[in-house]
Amino acid sequence: MALIVQKYGGTSLANPDRIANVANRVVKGWQDGNRMVVVLSAMSGETDRLIALAKELAEDPDPRELDVLLATGEQVTVSLFSMFLRAQGVPATSLLSHQARIYTDGAYGRARIIGIDTARILEELKKGRVVTVAGFQGVDEVGNITTLGRGGSDTTAVAVAAVLKADLCEIYTDVDGVYTTDPRIYPKARKLQRIAYDEMLEMASLGAKVLEIRSVGFAKRYQVPLRVRSTFSNDPGTLMTVEDEEMEDIPVSGVALSKNDARITVTRVPDRPGIAVRLFKPVAQANIVVDMIIQNTGIDGYTDLTFTVPKGDLKKTLELMGPVAREIEAQQVSSDKNIAKVSIVGVGMKNNAGIAARMFEALARENINIMMISTSEIKISVVIEDKYGELAVRVLHDTFDLETPKPRRSSR
Ligand code: ADP
Ligand code: ASP
Ligand code: MG
Repeated sequence: MALIVQKYGGTSLANPDRIANVANRVVKGWQDGNRMVVVLSAMSGETDRLIALAKELAEDPDPRELDVLLATGEQVTVSLFSMFLRAQGVPATSLLSHQARIYTDGAYGRARIIGIDTARILEELKKGRVVTVAGFQGVDEVGNITTLGRGGSDTTAVAVAAVLKADLCEIYTDVDGVYTTDPRIYPKARKLQRIAYDEMLEMASLGAKVLEIRSVGFAKRYQVPLRVRSTFSNDPGTLMTVEDEEMEDIPVSGVALSKNDARITVTRVPDRPGIAVRLFKPVAQANIVVDMIIQNTGIDGYTDLTFTVPKGDLKKTLELMGPVAREIEAQQVSSDKNIAKVSIVGVGMKNNAGIAARMFEALARENINIMMISTSEIKISVVIEDKYGELAVRVLHDTFDLETPKPRRSSR
């Protein structure tokens, strides 16, 4: 008897028919004798609707109250789902975060799971019930409701699978696996049968929202057997695995696009010790994640600093940096929201020379100007003008011929 955790995303739960369709899949697993834990998102569009509603009454909604509001989206789906199962004669119980005992820190809107007490979930499973757990939400140590950040139901599912030591964690969504790039941007994208945890971590952090990044982190750390599958087909989907030699033969496995960042440049910054920390400390203290920091070589004792932050944090970052920039007598702080970050990812990159040159050459051929570059062992990212984002994805997908499946070692 296997323990299976399944997560269904918003599109899979968009209306009563779809909820019934998902429920039938779960019932099948349960009838086959498996213990089923089902993590659900809100109905598609619901979280956005709630955010818009909040903004009608408060320009900058109080984070605590916003989380109370947003958590209702998942409360609706878990209750409807369990109700439907019970009406079919299948025993089911819905659990909200405080009932499933999913504990987080108190960072509203971006809370981190710090522990899960599995007692209640196990008790329900022991009674032979299907357990439906509200995704995306948690409870802090004093009982406040928190949310994990957009896409956070993936994280709930993988974390629950990790603590329960589930035999399998399946993330059901509206595409039948992880593709070489977002199939909605490039229909030539190819579904991957397997992807290394590290590749998926990079893809997720660089914009591939098919899995929320923290869920991949949990999956890697606890070696959760994780699959991404479609609710609307029987395709086996994509399996997350540790990397192997075969994967290392392929320099580039995927292309990701993100339009979530904004660029900030501080010009004529005095080039001396302690300046960077003065600029970035207040930003870090405000919990803003700074990415892609570039500092030019100093000339005449001055340098320029350019970096990116999430678009939603731009205003706050400028407010925090403005006074410091004046104090240190930097010349100017400027920003640009119209940027896109395009990245190529692959564990095989570390063994293959010349990948960056091919990437830059392909972009140059299309006359796409590169504003920033950042690399790690298994990825290269560039910042470009946002209107070229989709074009760059297609060009890079073609350049590295991601459409063609690469031959497996054994068949060579
Ligand atoms: P859910 O509501 O099920 O959580 P999401 O919308 O969060 O679904 O994630 C699924 C979407 O991720 C797909 O519809 C697809 O457009 C997008 N996506 C981005 N990059 C990729 C990729 N590399 N492979 C598959 N899907 C991707
Ligand atoms: N409902 C939340 C969101 O829309 C969480 C999720 O779907 O994973 O971001
Ligand atoms: Mg999602």
